Amino acid sequence: MKPAPFDYVAPRTLDEAVAALADGGPDAKVLAGGQSLVPLMNFRLARPSLLVDLNRIAELAYISPRAGGLAFGAMTRQAAVERHPNLATTQPLLAEAIHWVGHPAIRSRGTFGGSLAHADPAAELPAVAVCLDAVMRVIGPKGRREASAADFFQGYLTTALAPDEILEEVWLPPLPPRTGQAWLEFARRHGDFALVGVAASISVDGDSVSEARLALIGVDARPVRPREAETLLIGGTLDERVGAAADAVRSVIEPEADIHATREYRLHLAGVLAERAIRLAHERALQAAPQALDVRRTLESMGRYA
Ligand SMILES: Cc1cc2nc3c(=O)[nH]c(=O)nc-3n(C[C@H](O)[C@H](O)[C@H](O)COP(=O)(O)OP(=O)(O)OC[C@H]3O[C@@H](n4cnc5c(N)ncnc54)[C@H](O)[C@@H]3O)c2cc1C
Repeated sequence: MKPAPFDYVAPRTLDEAVAALADGGPDAKVLAGGQSLVPLMNFRLARPSLLVDLNRIAELAYISPRAGGLAFGAMTRQAAVERHPNLATTQPLLAEAIHWVGHPAIRSRGTFGGSLAHADPAAELPAVAVCLDAVMRVIGPKGRREASAADFFQGYLTTALAPDEILEEVWLPPLPPRTGQAWLEFARRHGDFALVGVAASISVDGDSVSEARLALIGVDARPVRPREAETLLIGGTLDERVGAAADAVRSVIEPEADIHATREYRLHLAGVLAERAIRLAHERALQAAPQALDVRRTLESMGRYA
């Protein structure tokens, strides 16, 4: 099918886009990469009266170091994020997860901000934002405000954005020292939306876990942060705790059955993937201790380490 008729504007600045969206009223929508919105319009599941195209606004596409973390303009293409040279070292969870977003052609048009604003419950980038405690900067006719990722995702395809607001930037904070991260998901074919996906970020102090952050997709109407499971992982050895954490993950999620998987299958998969992701992130955290290992090697080479 073809979309229902709509008006179209392509502003060159963010201020013009904010004004156009406000003038367009509650049925106006912004167009980013169009990878979700255009199919919805073609099926007439979305019928915006006006499209405010953000694609000519150069000030919305950037990746900048900020306060130890990384800031992404909302219109940064997913392919540009994927190709960022320092991503694997500065934000390894994002680097690993973004390969799972659709296919290269989709990532070359799809934007970081569009994926967050669309808030599909099986999308990878919202879970990355929730796991990493990202901060979203939003702009509207009343000015700018910030929202934590925990508050931003409110339900199925629903965020804290008002109809006249534009997501301007997402900021990912720096990682604590000695942190390992992992993204695992299961999809029927690579590029399909995940049946279940799990993000894990584990920090260690010595051999024990000092901080744990988890987020899951495909198991509820929005990304789930299983706080009790995170708390269970802190302290002690991982082997003693990981099974209980996986059980705690299963106890807080509410997956629904659909044509792809039953509720029971998703519950089982969530526990299995959570356990594997936690173990992998922990292993990476133990390896991410170059300072400690270097000191030991240096002392050994100086004959001062018994
Ligand atoms: C075949 C196919 C497979 C896919 N597989 C996956 C997958 O496995 N995982 C995955 O995560 N995604 C997948 N996607 C979706 C893809 O990642 C999209 O890029 C993403 O969901 C939306 O980004 P976009 O830039 O295209 O946004 P658009 O489609 O342009 O917009 C989506 C929605 O967000 C709003 N919006 C966009 N930007 C802003 C902004 N800055 N401020 C306010 N509102 C905004 C729009 O108004 C619209 O409502 C797939 C898409 C296709 C077509």
